[in-house]
Amino acid sequence: MLPTHMRAVQFTGSRSVRLAELAVPAPEAGEALVQITMSAVCGSDLPFYRASVEALGPRASVVPGHEPVGVVRSAAPGGIPEGTRVLVYHHSGEGRCEHCLSGEPMFCTHRQTLGNHRHGADAEWLVAPDASLVPLPDDIDDAMAALIACNFGTAFAGLRKSGARWGDRLIVTGLGSVGLCVVVAAVAAGCRVIAVDPIGPRREFALALGAEWAIDPVAQDPVPTIRQAAGGRGAEVAMECSGNALAQRQVVQAVRPHGTVVLVGSNSSMEIDPGVDLIRKEILVTGSWIFKRYEMADIFRAARRLPQLRRLIGVPVPADEVEHAFAAADSGDSLGKVLIDWT
Ligand SMILES: [Zn+2]
Ligand SMILES: [Zn+2]
Repeated sequence: MLPTHMRAVQFTGSRSVRLAELAVPAPEAGEALVQITMSAVCGSDLPFYRASVEALGPRASVVPGHEPVGVVRSAAPGGIPEGTRVLVYHHSGEGRCEHCLSGEPMFCTHRQTLGNHRHGADAEWLVAPDASLVPLPDDIDDAMAALIACNFGTAFAGLRKSGARWGDRLIVTGLGSVGLCVVVAAVAAGCRVIAVDPIGPRREFALALGAEWAIDPVAQDPVPTIRQAAGGRGAEVAMECSGNALAQRQVVQAVRPHGTVVLVGSNSSMEIDPGVDLIRKEILVTGSWIFKRYEMADIFRAARRLPQLRRLIGVPVPADEVEHAFAAADSGDSLGKVLIDWT
């Protein structure tokens, strides 16, 4: 017998959360019911955590979270069977357009995202489309799966898109969980990593993970320092993970001619001088949004080969203390990933 009610997180405005008691949702056609074991706090949750009730509007009633790991307890007909341990890919589409069929449902015009358009991961139970379920290999545990479900997958896809090669000087701006995943993967891929973040312990951690340079962008203009570190002309690659408009501007300035900038951190404004920055340097500036559904097997393979990723996973916070999980992520003091344990 499935329970009728569940604990679920709700944002109550201005950095407060509560554990509400909600009805366990019922799957519709093509959907499964997943019992959540682990979810995680993402940097992209924090603007909503910090927002006032008025600014949240109808979103205040939506369960947040888009990094769910759990076990299928009620399967869709013909779908992933009951008892299967899964992570849930957080974008879904209507399933028939070219983007859905090619494993890129984030581009579907009917896109729905967990924790935004539908109830998300920070609850004991989650209804998700069967098409979004990703069965987990036995050697990927729940905590690693939660890291992979958004942050490591995002780092992997952005780094792949960057075309970074052995020996490249690679800037990482923003050393939250995604940025630190980039550091781990880029170091393992033979890149020489230049880590940039205003928070000292994050820079120290990046150095411990193998970055060669760590720069405080508040204490000094990072652009000349990066250019100097990278042989005077600038870095080959930048992975911008902060979403800070000034950092976005600085990485564009700090890459060399023919360099590549991958924007991973989201922002709504960015200053570029097309003549100086783009035309006369012939750089490539591109965006990378999460990862594609079809990259999943490659992401699991990469995670297995990166033992340092384990260092990014914090001690899971029990769901009853969920306010501590969000406060830790919000403070910036937590190094790596903040997980919520629903078991
Ligand atoms: Zn996320
Ligand atoms: Zn579609």
